[in-house]
Amino acid sequence: MNNCKANHCIECTVQQCANHCERENYCSLDRIMVGTHEANPTMDQCTDCQSFQLRK
Ligand code: SF4
Repeated sequence: MNNCKANHCIECTVQQCANHCERENYCSLDRIMVGTHEANPTMDQCTDCQSFQLRK
């Protein structure tokens, strides 16, 4: 994403996401939603960015 407006409050390394600023490890959204796919989350791997959108 050229002209990507990095939100320096949201660091992210998921380069496959359409909202990721490719040259910087930041998200371009003003805010994101974080959730879990587990009934009883116990570690960081249990959490998900639910604002993820696959880059096309
Ligand atoms: S939406 Fe989530 S996964 Fe995508 S760049 Fe932003 S923080 Fe990363």
